[in-house]
Amino acid sequence: MNISHPPRIQVLDPRVAAGIAAGEVVERPASVVKELAENSLDAGATHVTVELRQGGLEFIRVVDDGRGIQANQLEVAFARHATSKLTTMDDLDSLSTLGFRGEALPSIAAAGHVRLVSRTAHANAAFIEIEGGRTLAAGAGSSALGTSVTVEALFSAIPARLKFMRTSGAEAGRARQVIDHLVLACPHVAFTLVTDGRVALRAPGSGSLRDAVAAVHGVEIADAMLEITPSPQARYPAHGLTCSPSTSRPNRTAIRTFVNGRWVQSRALTAAVEQAYVGLLMEGRYPVSVVLLEVPPDQVDINVHPNKREVRFVHEGEAFSSVQRAVRDALLANVPVAATPHQPSRVEGRDTAATSPSFTFSLPPIPSVSAAQPLIDTAAAPALALDELRAGAAPLAGATMPRLRVLGQIANTYVVAEGADGMYLVDQHAAHESVLFYRLLRHWARGEPEIQPLLDPVPVPLTPAQQDAVAEALPTLAAYGFILEDFGDGTWLLRAVPAMSRAVPAEKMIEELLAEGVVHPHGATPSHWAMAASIACHSAVRAGQSLSDEEMTELIHAMETTADPSHCPHGRPTTIRVTTSMLERAFGRA
Ligand code: ADP
Ligand code: MG
Repeated sequence: MNISHPPRIQVLDPRVAAGIAAGEVVERPASVVKELAENSLDAGATHVTVELRQGGLEFIRVVDDGRGIQANQLEVAFARHATSKLTTMDDLDSLSTLGFRGEALPSIAAAGHVRLVSRTAHANAAFIEIEGGRTLAAGAGSSALGTSVTVEALFSAIPARLKFMRTSGAEAGRARQVIDHLVLACPHVAFTLVTDGRVALRAPGSGSLRDAVAAVHGVEIADAMLEITPSPQARYPAHGLTCSPSTSRPNRTAIRTFVNGRWVQSRALTAAVEQAYVGLLMEGRYPVSVVLLEVPPDQVDINVHPNKREVRFVHEGEAFSSVQRAVRDALLANVPVAATPHQPSRVEGRDTAATSPSFTFSLPPIPSVSAAQPLIDTAAAPALALDELRAGAAPLAGATMPRLRVLGQIANTYVVAEGADGMYLVDQHAAHESVLFYRLLRHWARGEPEIQPLLDPVPVPLTPAQQDAVAEALPTLAAYGFILEDFGDGTWLLRAVPAMSRAVPAEKMIEELLAEGVVHPHGATPSHWAMAASIACHSAVRAGQSLSDEEMTELIHAMETTADPSHCPHGRPTTIRVTTSMLERAFGRA
């Protein structure tokens, strides 16, 4: 039993209360930067300059050329719940500003020492200085049109918060993220970020998203970004820019999603972008992507949390697929395809189908979208060290295959070939899988599946749950060539299969799709690329299967016309290159 007196319950001193509330809105220097810069944007600024020292812990200044604050309003701007952006409850539904709670300035002033100088078009400049929520000084100032807010000694009044701050470098990094998001959301606004006296970022405010991406990621990446345009089947239009699969990052920070012009943190939208790259990037690699989704305001709630910018959609699945489709379309339309000298580059369709009818993976060439593409990207395919090769970790980099001459097969699993600069070892299953995967996707994108009708429909017995799953997945299955029909009594009839799967027992494919969860009971709608990956995997030639010279040659040529033959849909490498110079070094010739 605890016999000590319980502590007395008291109403907090207003300054303490303000400090606690400030701690909520003003989590760290980056939140101050975000609130101040958003105020600048709300004020119609076309130029915003942000200056930081020690990650903002020592000094933050945000200067804008917006419409300013009248001298007699400076003090009230720092009062709690004081805002010019909202007067009635109805206004809440039609907000176009970034802020509206009227909490930022008082919270910041409660957390540090603030000096604000402002001038409107019609009056002289005035300033106010506040610390710990108390006005220290106010009066006439001098300033260009617009507002400048300086925050010093942030959190010195709230030591508890200081303890949670990481190094100033980490805080500067967070502030940089905030600016990156604003730059990408507002390409028409010129931003400058100066950290510890150095210009860390300069965005021109040209109105072009590509210029904004250049400011954030550099010109080289920006120039190579692919345009995202809305998919016709999508409920919500998605625009933006996304990288080709030759660019990637080890984490998700460069996947940025915006809804109605605001950066949002959304697992669903980030996953949608990631999934668009399935089969194009190695596992554990992530794209650089800026996706701008437009959603009618009544179908989305962006202000779930004042700082985190989480978002809720009325139709989350539709938001997901709108993004996933638009990004995938951009990739399929733009991924460069090797121009192969031995094939005419403008041939479409089956008329030039390869000449080996006995071979079930004969492939029509696809039109070349980038005839100027180098056959081999030597810069991206570094010379291999012997020990790397021994470790088996020397995949071919770069998105195109050079022309290769087949030499033979090893262990009935690897094709050996000679190319422009050395020897190539190709994993026959992974390579074929990659070829088939892209072929399926191309036909899916055109809405023209390659179908093999079955003379004798094959009965497939299904459990009730499996029947539900198959029924739901029917359109996707049909888009790849599986025609299924409910025969009653738990039996479905398979009337057609994807042409490339004709060598596989038909009912086995359906079993596999169900077993792998690609078509799953009580699941979300199946993703079509997962289905393509599964069909490709089961239709591809296996390891351990002996191939004729013709078959090997055909496989290698098919790789030359495939979007990214360097990886299979699961991200495993298809090809290992041993350069001539590496051989020379190994044999002591160099
Ligand atoms: P909110 O942005 O939610 O309205 P703030 O505390 O951030 O609340 O700002 C209070 C008010 O001060 C704003 O509504 C706006 O009228 C004015 N204000 C703040 N910053 C600026 C600025 N940079 N330029 C012009 N007005 C500003
Ligand atoms: Mg604000």
